[in-house]
Amino acid sequence: MATNIALVGIGKIAQDQHVPSLTASPDWALAATVSRSGTVDGIQSFTDFDQMLAERGDIPVVSLCLPPVPRFDYAQKALRAGRHVMLEKPPGATLAEVHALADLAANHGVTLYTTWHSRMAAGVETARAFLADKTVDRAHITWKEDVKKWHPGQDWVFEPGGMGVFDPGSNALSILTHILPAPVHVTKAVLEYPENRQTPIAAQVQFSGNISGDFDWRQTGPQSWNIDVEAGGHTLRLSDGGAKVVIDGTALDVGPNREYPNLYAEMARLVAAGQSDVDLAPMVHIADALTLGRRVTVAPFTWQ
Ligand code: NAP
Repeated sequence: MATNIALVGIGKIAQDQHVPSLTASPDWALAATVSRSGTVDGIQSFTDFDQMLAERGDIPVVSLCLPPVPRFDYAQKALRAGRHVMLEKPPGATLAEVHALADLAANHGVTLYTTWHSRMAAGVETARAFLADKTVDRAHITWKEDVKKWHPGQDWVFEPGGMGVFDPGSNALSILTHILPAPVHVTKAVLEYPENRQTPIAAQVQFSGNISGDFDWRQTGPQSWNIDVEAGGHTLRLSDGGAKVVIDGTALDVGPNREYPNLYAEMARLVAAGQSDVDLAPMVHIADALTLGRRVTVAPFTWQ
């Protein structure tokens, strides 16, 4: 039987991915939305989260699609109200607040799931399995996209806590931290801040183990979401954000890309099993890059 779920923060990613995935899922029934302006046709909509929690005791699970800074208060309220909680990525504005949410979930005996949708991309498990018994000699992330296309007018990405280019960069880092057979750490970073903004629009990050990353939000034309790995005399390329994998020049059949349907299937499994999944490894790299990074000022950014 489908479990009732509420979707909170009806913006771009809720409309693009969460609503279609929930509608198609046998596990879930979208029972309410909470948003100051967004709604979903045919679904009861609330503008006040407290009211939804109070009035809809029949909804045991809440999926939070807000940006990271406002998301914490909602997550806290939901967990305190005994609801299972699913967090969009990145799971918080800071590491400590996610640790606090994990403690809260444990204390209330409910599930907390820090989702990393790119880890569910079709080629990622194949890459992880291939690298599991190998030593990585070199790896490079190329994550270059157009912020105006993927975050149109979303000023929060350039406000403190919005993480700038590390918002999409967290997708690459979620894959990297999942496929590498041994952990690495940030050793150096250069962060490019538009002179009128609070977060970087581009970053070059060096990790231990001959691993590097080039993140840029000013890419027009074709978008690049690739991770290239050399390991034990082999080459592996994950492209299209992890949806495709090529090993030693041969493209493997990894099936269709089902990132968000897989996230919701995993949330159903976690709730049924009474488990949480809280993984902050990608965010640790972002925090370290922001701590170690040398700041360079670049041209102002405007949406026009
Ligand atoms: P968005 O459209 O700017 O925001 C989502 C919704 O959150 C908004 O529609 C807004 O709804 C609500 N919201 C924003 N600020 C709020 C505040 N201060 N208080 C309460 N509600 C607020 O952002 P998005 O692109 O959907 O991204 C949301 C999350 O999904 C981010 O963490 C992002 O990294 C992740 N994500 C985004 C994409 C993408 O391609 N954009 C892809 C994957 C994951 P109301 O104004 O109606 O309340």
